[in-house]
Amino acid sequence: MSVELKSAVELEGMRQSGRINAQIRRLLWDAIRPGVTGLELDQLAKKAIKEHGAEPTFLGYAPMGKPPYPGAICYSVNEELVHGIPGGRALQEGDIVTIDLGVTYKGWVSDAAFTAVVGDVGDEARALIETTRRALWAGIEEMKPGNRLGDVSHAIGAKAGTYGIVTGYGGHGVGRKMHMEPHVPNYGRAGTGLRLQAGMVLALEPMFSMGAPATEETDDDWTVVMCDGSLSAHWEETVAITANGPEVLTRLD
Ligand code: MG
Repeated sequence: MSVELKSAVELEGMRQSGRINAQIRRLLWDAIRPGVTGLELDQLAKKAIKEHGAEPTFLGYAPMGKPPYPGAICYSVNEELVHGIPGGRALQEGDIVTIDLGVTYKGWVSDAAFTAVVGDVGDEARALIETTRRALWAGIEEMKPGNRLGDVSHAIGAKAGTYGIVTGYGGHGVGRKMHMEPHVPNYGRAGTGLRLQAGMVLALEPMFSMGAPATEETDDDWTVVMCDGSLSAHWEETVAITANGPEVLTRLD
């Protein structure tokens, strides 16, 4: 496995991309309310990305013979896990919505996601979302030189409790391209796997479900849903490993 190490100059490029990503996620977060549609949020993202002189990384992305992805954001509501396509349905009180955003700035990609609530969703959904967010930050804390990739994966998975851990998707290296080595599973054994070094940049992205963790793709070829229709949550940050520990490049202030 060859994992890219970023130089100080390259890391500065990643930082700039990450800052733009955070600003646009903040805009989207603030725009979420009953009545707004995925298409409206996608337009908001497209416009803001352009204003920053950046490009939407996801737009036109077409891996492995898939149709080109049509949005700037992935927009996944309730039992939709990831890669949902923004559409014309209005958000309703009680929905939960995951927005995943890729930004490319001067060739550097940042990738981050959050799950937000629409109005009052009840304690169960809130607990799922909060547990998934904490799992992300538990993984981030392990991103130190000398630790192993398994320490990160284990820290994430250990937070799941009774929730399902989605195993078909996970984190990844990120840099000039969105998906790079290594794959970062959301479960694993501490003390095993790749040795972490300063200069590595990884996107960590835990995904937990209220029910069974099995997923399937719908016939739009993109949207991934939970097979049992249960709620799911997803959080992601792009994080650099530095000599001083983790630096969260996409952090929302
Ligand atoms: Mg990602």
